[in-house]
Amino acid sequence: MAGQLKISRTSVREGIRVLEALGVLKAGVGSGPAAGTFVTANPAAALGSTLRLHIASSHLPVADIVQTRLLLETWAGAHAKGDAASLAAAEHLLDDMDRPGLGAPEFLALDALFHVALAEAAGNILVGAMMASLRESIQSYTQGLTAALPDWQSTAARLRNEHRDILKAIQGGNGQQAADLIGRHIEGFYREAGFRE
Ligand SMILES: [Zn+2]
Repeated sequence: MAGQLKISRTSVREGIRVLEALGVLKAGVGSGPAAGTFVTANPAAALGSTLRLHIASSHLPVADIVQTRLLLETWAGAHAKGDAASLAAAEHLLDDMDRPGLGAPEFLALDALFHVALAEAAGNILVGAMMASLRESIQSYTQGLTAALPDWQSTAARLRNEHRDILKAIQGGNGQQAADLIGRHIEGFYREAGFRE
């Protein structure tokens, strides 16, 4: 490779190490079919880690996150498969969110995970990776908005019910209904905190 590209072997080794750190390549040692350096079998992992890095280090406007959520999540809701594996995880997260005495930060951390699990149910690895990359941004803006809410307890009760309805719509194969419910759920929270998207 160094000969082909007319660069030093050190540069090739360095390049491989960087791609490995990003998750694009997987290096195996020894001999046999698993040995050698491969392009990873999970292309979304590399994209996800780079995207996460970019998003985590940016101060994104809340309105932009909300609009991106609407775009990704209503599409995912309409295309989610009722028997997707990630829906079992989504259901567990809702049970965790029913725990009495759960604080707003814990609730909203689980809430963001729930939305990632829902988006994954559409089976599009790019949409799943983009939602996973947005998870921390979602968690942090929703947490930031709780101070602007009139009453957290009643908002939490409403969010719990909306989550159950969304999950039921997806499990029942009602994609369009799920998409509508997801859109109202995301916008409702944002509006309740006094914002418009
Ligand atoms: Zn939610």
